[in-house]
Amino acid sequence: MSDCLFCKIAAGEIPSNKVYEDALCYAFYDIAPQAPTHFLVIPKVHIGSVSEIDGTNSGVVAHIFEVIAKLAGDLGLTSYRVVSNIGEQAGQSVLHLHFHVLSGRDMTWPPG
Ligand code: AMP
Repeated sequence: MSDCLFCKIAAGEIPSNKVYEDALCYAFYDIAPQAPTHFLVIPKVHIGSVSEIDGTNSGVVAHIFEVIAKLAGDLGLTSYRVVSNIGEQAGQSVLHLHFHVLSGRDMTWPPG
C-alpha cells in the first residue's frame, strides 16, 4: 500500500533497526520500546490487522509465528508476550498487521 508506514519500512524506504527479514516478513525494533526487548514482526504484504486475516493470507501469519519462535530462541528470550492490537479502542496506531514481541520485565495481566 503506497501510503503505509510499515509497507515503507518493509521495503527499506524508511530506515528501521532490523532484527530479521525473509521473503514474507520483516522484524524490527520498536521505536518506543515498552520493555527491555520490544520488536515488531510484520508481513511484507499489506494486511490491515488481524481482522483482515483469511484463507488467502493466513499462511504468512503462520510463518510469522514460526519466525517469532525462532527469533525468541536466537535472542535467548525464555518468557515473552506477543500482542496484536486491532482497532482504535485496543490501541492500534499503525494500520498494517504487526505482532509486538515484548520481553525482559515482569508483566501484568490483564493488560491495561
Ligand atoms: P500499535 O500501536 O499496536 O499499532 O503499534 C504500533 C507500534 O509501532 C508502536 O509501538 C510504535 O512505537 C511503533 N512504531 C511507529 N513508528 C515506528 C517506526 N518508524 N519504527 C519503529 N517502530 C515504530
